[in-house]
Amino acid sequence: MRIEKNTVVSLNYRMLNREGQIVEEAETPISYLHGGYDGIFPAVEEALHEKEVGHSLSILMEPEDAFGGYDAELMRIEPKSAFPEGVTVGMQFEGGEEESDDMMIYTVTDVTEDIVVVDGNHPYAGMALQFECTVVDIRSATTEEMMHGHVHGPDGHHH
Ligand SMILES: [Zn+2]
Repeated sequence: MRIEKNTVVSLNYRMLNREGQIVEEAETPISYLHGGYDGIFPAVEEALHEKEVGHSLSILMEPEDAFGGYDAELMRIEPKSAFPEGVTVGMQFEGGEEESDDMMIYTVTDVTEDIVVVDGNHPYAGMALQFECTVVDIRSATTEEMMHGHVHGPDGHHH
């Protein structure tokens, strides 16, 4: 069976930064619905098209192909009084504009006596990443999965 539109593809993968350090590694295979459903990075999806189980690939994704460029406007300086006591670097908070549904995750990047610096960029924003993966399973998607545009089941979406 080959990877084509409306197949569910399972992958083992890892991502490395430019220095060759692993920034993310799947402990169990991930599954996505192939065929332009935005289930995985488009560059990876394109490279996997028509491949079979056992196929491995390694592609370099520029930031715009991965988690986007770094947006300096997403870095904010807030008064420390707005945060819970004991706030430290690395903590994450949800935030967003009042009238928008887009909740964002802000990560604390600096704490001084009076202020807290938070960054709403994805931790990998601005990074070129090497995506390495091996196809471990391919199956036909169910009608429901096609209609929903995502994978159901143990590795996928739960309702
Ligand atoms: Zn669904």
